[in-house]
Amino acid sequence: MGAGGFIGSHLVKRLKREGYWVRGVDLKNPEFSPTQADDWVIGDLRDATVVDRVVTADLDEIYQLAAEMGGAGYIFTGENDADVMHNSATINLNTADAAVKKGVKKIFYSSSACIYPEYNQMDPDNPKCTENTAYPAEPDSEYGWEKLFSERMYFAYHRNYGIQVRVARFHNIYGPEGTWTGGREKAPAAICRKVAETPQGGNIEIWGDGKQTRSFLYIEDCLDGVRALMQSDFSGPVNIGSEEMISINDFAKMIIGISGKNLHITNIPGPQGVRGRNSDNDLIREKVGWEPKFDLARGMKLTYEWVAKQVENRS
Ligand code: NAD
Repeated sequence: MGAGGFIGSHLVKRLKREGYWVRGVDLKNPEFSPTQADDWVIGDLRDATVVDRVVTADLDEIYQLAAEMGGAGYIFTGENDADVMHNSATINLNTADAAVKKGVKKIFYSSSACIYPEYNQMDPDNPKCTENTAYPAEPDSEYGWEKLFSERMYFAYHRNYGIQVRVARFHNIYGPEGTWTGGREKAPAAICRKVAETPQGGNIEIWGDGKQTRSFLYIEDCLDGVRALMQSDFSGPVNIGSEEMISINDFAKMIIGISGKNLHITNIPGPQGVRGRNSDNDLIREKVGWEPKFDLARGMKLTYEWVAKQVENRS
């Protein structure tokens, strides 16, 4: 579910490479390469009859990645709050119910680092995102509140109806074939685009003072984590992220360095979310034995090259 999106379309490819039969569902086709799903359904998962049709008793596993989603420019302005909460919650309510009714044994749900309380992420050098710090809850966006609700709902379905559940809290996943323009793009692709579009000696704008920190996880690592969690006995919720924290200005400098250009950075007011965020991978290391293989510079080189090619093809 959400198989036309960034992570979903990569996950379909991964599952096909591993030899599985895959059904993919989304409102739209994958944007950048044709789907590799064996059965492809364009459908709206807010519609319970669509969910009832695509969740069939012969499925071994469901990966639920569909969500009303975007970067800071989409999530943190407040303008999309009602859609974010209503649409994503409806998809999850329909999915949990259909999975149990059809007797599907196992479901993966993609939650987010955005569930973590704002009060633990005020200090850019010392954010706390350990799994057991989620409560008392105070996510800084309605997107985070919906994820927290849906995490709890999937675990309730496990307790009451026995379905096996795996919940991961993704931290900023990036890579080729991610949204890079149009308003829903996230920081890695957005900064790559700005750098690629700007001529030598020019200036790029970065939202906030640039001292806010984040970590970013390369898509291949994310998929390794999802598959390892799904095959493990551990249900989560667990972080799937990188512990390589960087300030946004240093991140922009890294991308400028990869481009080989000489550009200046101007910090301007803009939506930016919490001051600091970093994954804490102790739990997944211990329970699942997973950790990322790509460092940020390597993953960003691959991503910059891909975004730069899109920018070039557009102009
Ligand atoms: P994405 O927006 O590229 O993919 C989500 C897909 O869901 C889209 O293709 C969209 O069309 C589809 N969708 C939305 N509403 C739908 C509906 N009503 N019916 C059918 N399909 C619908 O996002 P992504 O980056 O691939 O993220 C996948 C999941 O991981 C999401 O649940 C997201 O919240 C979560 N997540 C992602 C990140 C990240 O950094 N990318 C971080 C934390 C959590």
